Amino acid sequence: MARLVIVSNRVSVPTGRRVEAGGLTVVLRDGLRKADGLWFGWSGDFAEQPGPAKVTTRGKMSYALLDLNQDDYKGFYYGFANGSLWPLFHYRLGLVDWKAESYRAYRKVNLQFASELIKLLKPDDQVWVHDYQLIPLGEELRKLGFTGTIGFYLHVPFPSGDIVEVLPAHVELGQAMLNYDLIGVQTDRAHHDMLDFLERWIGAEREGEDLLYAGRRVRTGVYRAAIDTLGFGKEAAVAVENEEVRSLEESLGGRTLMLGVERLDYTKGLPLRFAAYEHLLATHEDWLRKVIMLQIAPVSRGELAQYRALRSDLERATGRIAGRFASPDWNPIRYVNQPVPRKILSGYLRVAQVGLVTPLRDGMNLVAKEYVAAQDPQNPGVLVLSRFAGAVEELGEGALLVNPLDIERTAEAMRDALAMPIDERIDRWQRCMEPLRVWTARTWYDAFVHKLHEIADANSKLAHAA
Ligand code: ADP
Repeated sequence: MARLVIVSNRVSVPTGRRVEAGGLTVVLRDGLRKADGLWFGWSGDFAEQPGPAKVTTRGKMSYALLDLNQDDYKGFYYGFANGSLWPLFHYRLGLVDWKAESYRAYRKVNLQFASELIKLLKPDDQVWVHDYQLIPLGEELRKLGFTGTIGFYLHVPFPSGDIVEVLPAHVELGQAMLNYDLIGVQTDRAHHDMLDFLERWIGAEREGEDLLYAGRRVRTGVYRAAIDTLGFGKEAAVAVENEEVRSLEESLGGRTLMLGVERLDYTKGLPLRFAAYEHLLATHEDWLRKVIMLQIAPVSRGELAQYRALRSDLERATGRIAGRFASPDWNPIRYVNQPVPRKILSGYLRVAQVGLVTPLRDGMNLVAKEYVAAQDPQNPGVLVLSRFAGAVEELGEGALLVNPLDIERTAEAMRDALAMPIDERIDRWQRCMEPLRVWTARTWYDAFVHKLHEIADANSKLAHAA
């Protein structure tokens, strides 16, 4: 069987200590192990003049880790990937900070990845490239002569062509995408917009879900990012016995918990969520002293000014809400900046009667799925979900949907969730669980890799026939 090679910006090499890896990382690693695979990416270290990737082997699989020059990394990661692409792909045009030199650093790092990876590739390897940091990697590999199968998966939304067009480099990036054999995205909406962009702005010819461009056939498809639904549910059921989870539960003193959990990111809609909660407390006196909102939001990308500003905004909002409503024995809001170990997090999600997932835009949002999976089937909580999270395509039937900009209606949805009778909660939870039972992280991985194999077979038959 052909070897699978995964490429992502960061690689998590298991250290033997407890690994705090997210669901998809674990699934990729498990899959790679079976395929005797290779995982290639940045080591997390800097070097003035980076050398070749260092290869370490763990059991049957290998990791190849590359150091980067610190200035290149800043331009590539903070400058372009997170300063331009991240806000653009999340529909935040006003936050796009285009700088030509950052884009050059992005291309340089992608070329460096390709130049070092090509040294390790065998002709029949199947390569799976991950995410917006590495869009041009496939093109660079092609330029260096790699003819094997390459797939690309986008973990963020793909906005409409009108938005992508704002980026001065949109044509180059669109053309680069058309060097892949397979492009996977998370939602029907992203798929529709991506096909439209590549057809109308870049000039690819559509044939069903395939795109034809410069003599190449690019397959595309929707592969919804997912979780280990049953595994996460079991973990949550055990976690409620955990000391830290019990301690949270006891600290509530019988009050109802509403929980939000995400990286501190402007896409997650946190200031609006806080405002909606404030509105709820201001307009529903009957809930005063009966509810507590816990927001867990570890700091991320603190090097960027927008992220630091968000942090101060939330600190102010937390103080304001507490100052306005708290009594000596009740604080309506708890705001925690620390990450929480996954096992404990699953217990917290189970204890919360309301899960708040209200991003302004999100490619998928795995927390929404984790919240559903963590619930007690006999007494499930209610998910309040933004219409602008990719997860809405699967959870839209069971969750209470909100537009996070509409503070008053979001506050009403919070109230409806808090007051929802048990029969409706069970009914809604079951509707959310249905798709999550069928489509898991495992099926996500298998579907993408299966498609890559299929394309590799088809391509090698074509090559033999020629
Ligand atoms: P994003 O990829 O934009 O951060 P997702 O919701 O798709 O958002 O995935 C986030 C992952 O990180 C989830 O698996 C979630 O459980 C985990 N996570 C988010 N916040 C925390 C936290 N405070 N502590 C631990 N894990 C977290």
